[in-house]
Amino acid sequence: MKKSVAIIGAGITGLTAAFYLKRAGVPVTVYEASERVGGVIQSLRQDGYLAEFGPNTLLETSPKIGQLVRDAGLTARRLDPDPKAEARYVVRYGRPIAMPGSPLGFFFTKLFTAKAKLAVLREPFIQPRRDGVEESIAQFVVRRFNQEFLDHAIDALVAGIYAGNPYKLSLTHAFPKLKALEDNYGSMIKGQILGARDRKKSGEVAKDRAPKFSFDEGLQVLPDTLAANLGDALKLNAAVTRLAQTGDGWRATTASGEVEHRVVIYCGTAYRLAELQIAALKPVDLAAFAEIRYPPVASVILGFRREDVAHRCSGFGMLIPRVEGFKVLGTIFSSALFPNRAPAGYLTLTSYVGGERQPELASLPPEKLFSLVCEDLRVLLGVRGHPTFAHSVFWPRAIPQYNVGYGRYRDLMTEIETKAPGLFFAGHARDGVSLSDSIVSGSNVAERVEKALAAPVPYRRVQTGS
Ligand SMILES: Cc1cc2nc3c(=O)[nH]c(=O)nc-3n(C[C@H](O)[C@H](O)[C@H](O)COP(=O)(O)OP(=O)(O)OC[C@H]3O[C@@H](n4cnc5c(N)ncnc54)[C@H](O)[C@@H]3O)c2cc1C
Repeated sequence: MKKSVAIIGAGITGLTAAFYLKRAGVPVTVYEASERVGGVIQSLRQDGYLAEFGPNTLLETSPKIGQLVRDAGLTARRLDPDPKAEARYVVRYGRPIAMPGSPLGFFFTKLFTAKAKLAVLREPFIQPRRDGVEESIAQFVVRRFNQEFLDHAIDALVAGIYAGNPYKLSLTHAFPKLKALEDNYGSMIKGQILGARDRKKSGEVAKDRAPKFSFDEGLQVLPDTLAANLGDALKLNAAVTRLAQTGDGWRATTASGEVEHRVVIYCGTAYRLAELQIAALKPVDLAAFAEIRYPPVASVILGFRREDVAHRCSGFGMLIPRVEGFKVLGTIFSSALFPNRAPAGYLTLTSYVGGERQPELASLPPEKLFSLVCEDLRVLLGVRGHPTFAHSVFWPRAIPQYNVGYGRYRDLMTEIETKAPGLFFAGHARDGVSLSDSIVSGSNVAERVEKALAAPVPYRRVQTGS
């Protein structure tokens, strides 16, 4: 069996792990259930438009992101956004208002009332909570700022990242950096200012300041390149349905048969993990992973003639809080960010519908989705006429919700790794839901596995009866 590694899932986590293990000389096999690589990354080039149905940008929050781009030989294909497209809008009073770009700008913005501005000034003087109780992001924001700040800013942000519900998402698990600011500096505002030096030392960059980028032909370029490097080691249409622990490794079952590996890395979704049959030497129960909620989301990509859109759409995009009563969660001004996303004289707008806010809308037929999104864009951006390009993708289970109590699932993964040596977990259900989190997760798990392979085999040869 030598030291072969089975990687389950050819999303960006699995592909990153496979890339680094292969580079280190470790034989890998990547099993992917579907007929394509990239997982939720999905770019479509058609009629001069480029549509991203999954993630739109990659945030360079860690040096490992740029490293992967360089190691994969993709530096020349990296596409940085138009520097003019920095503005972010949040909808208030039924129209998009630019978010303030500086502390001074905050005091003049129309986005918040004087009361909310005062709450921000007061925040450094609010005692940090030290009783260890796990809060939702909503409880945290109301405690440190006020209800208005939650309803008109954080709710929109939460919709943009998780398509989630702020009253359910855990501060500890979904927003660990905010929690760390309070824990380490006693205040968000103080932490923002004083923490800059510590972040610089660690090489980590805060999400709101991290450079974002894509590739000339969209994010799909990254998984496609990593997959090409794998050659025959990539097995598509190869769902792993069963894992059996042998004396010195694991037997993985797919529809084509059984293969023995020394190590298995699970890089798939939590709901498919719950369906995996596992015969380990010590009893391991994966059923709890079925409880993790992934709300449905529809990505709706529309192209318009430039003259049919009144708003300049010259920023990153707009976020829409629930209290504003629209159906769209948020819209990215895709061709303002990356001009090659639309033909000259046209623009591309990428909108999201559904999530925890209105899950029932995500599964509407495409024609209904197009008209519902067009109606919101008409009011918010002054869009007229029919779209010149219209595509949507329905994600029945889009993004895992790191709700209060999520630590249970992370602890369970750690416990299973200890109980069943040679089985590793990585990816969005464990290490954070952004693309950059998944790359860091894939790169870290490759390092962990390399170390494990270098150590002597700690287990006896025992048959599991399979
Ligand atoms: C609509 C949408 C928009 C997003 N926008 C952004 C964004 O702009 N920026 C950002 O940073 N992040 C964004 N994200 C999040 C980010 O894209 C994901 O967190 C990240 O791509 C997850 O990668 P992954 O490899 O961990 O998982 P996935 O992409 O889910 O890949 C898992 C793979 O495992 C396979 N698999 C599962 N079980 C098995 C099995 N038993 N056998 C074989 N294969 C299996 C699946 O088929 C899948 O291909 C977005 C996500 C969505 C859904």
